[in-house]
Amino acid sequence: MLIRNARLADGTIVDIRIEGEHIAAMGHDLPAAVPMVDAEGALALPAFVEGHTHLDKTFWGAAWYRNEVGPRLIDRIENERATRRGNGLDPLAQAERLALDFLALGTTRIRSFADVDTEIGIRHVEALVTLRERLRGLMDIQVVAFPQSGLLIRPTTLDLLEAAMQAGADVVGGLDPAGIDRDPKGHLDAVFDLCSRFRAPLDVHLHEPGELGAFSMELIIERTRALSMQGRVVISHAFCLGDVAPARAMALYDGLAEAGIALATTAPPSRAVPSVKAARAAGVTIFGGNDGIRDAWTPYGAPDMLQRAMLIGLKNEFRRDDEIALAMECVTTAGAIGCGFEGAGIATGDRADLVLLPVETVAEAVVGQPRDRLVISHGRIVAQGAALMPELSPAE
Ligand SMILES: [Zn+2]
Repeated sequence: MLIRNARLADGTIVDIRIEGEHIAAMGHDLPAAVPMVDAEGALALPAFVEGHTHLDKTFWGAAWYRNEVGPRLIDRIENERATRRGNGLDPLAQAERLALDFLALGTTRIRSFADVDTEIGIRHVEALVTLRERLRGLMDIQVVAFPQSGLLIRPTTLDLLEAAMQAGADVVGGLDPAGIDRDPKGHLDAVFDLCSRFRAPLDVHLHEPGELGAFSMELIIERTRALSMQGRVVISHAFCLGDVAPARAMALYDGLAEAGIALATTAPPSRAVPSVKAARAAGVTIFGGNDGIRDAWTPYGAPDMLQRAMLIGLKNEFRRDDEIALAMECVTTAGAIGCGFEGAGIATGDRADLVLLPVETVAEAVVGQPRDRLVISHGRIVAQGAALMPELSPAE
């Protein structure tokens, strides 16, 4: 396939030749190929990366869920378990519905958590592993085995987490080692041990505030270095970095950089968050995700990473074009680096996963979020105008 007249982020207009699943050449007046797409100056971006979501428990496309949940984290966890018992939703069907809507809007790589607990066992992990295989060649999905209800406080959950890794989960998940499990050393020793045994990366939800979160973060940094897991550990949320004094935060960013730990941020309006600029200045990869979308935790979120990029831009008070481009990196190349997805970018040799948008600049894409998108995944056109190509649309 040849894409003529695509606009790159720096404004230059190029032709992009795709062979098989990859970008084979970029340049001017490349020899014509069949099929050919004339982008007519549309902005070409790397396809989006959703670096942190929970496909397994979304109500996306189902009846509206009336949220009357209490304010504490534990209220939300208990409510979710109760809701799940009664709503009859199939995690595989729900996850597929949301994943395909992500694809229609330009996301080709997703890291999704899947709950593991004493009630559902590893059912949700199995559902997402099935989805990952079903969509292989169309989207890349990483499955994180995630102890949403706590790990050590609910005996046998650790055994289930191990079973989830055996069942094909890609990444080990952790959760508030002090705040939920109240045993940071025990929790982190357990999840890092699983990582060592399964040679798997780690992604820890760290909602813990202030010094408590900073303490847990230091323990994660120590273990990442001791086990030489640089480049394979993500801390999600990391609200503590927004809570502590600037000098303390700087020292933590430096520690994260030295340990090669990346940060995932959802940039929620409700909490202080890691600063995209401070993280990058220290050499820390920071990337974006929705977290849950339309579930028992939150009614918000959408399978549109341009919306998330805008929220990251707003939260970080980005106004300049070069700043808003950083928000875009959070949902494209930085997300790929943080999650370990390879070949994301627009250069010869990268996988041909692209989004063409009818705008001239990256900042315009972030604030305008046009839905008129041409999405290319693995070298073929998969969606246009926010709709999947007919042959890819779900049967229902
Ligand atoms: Zn989450």
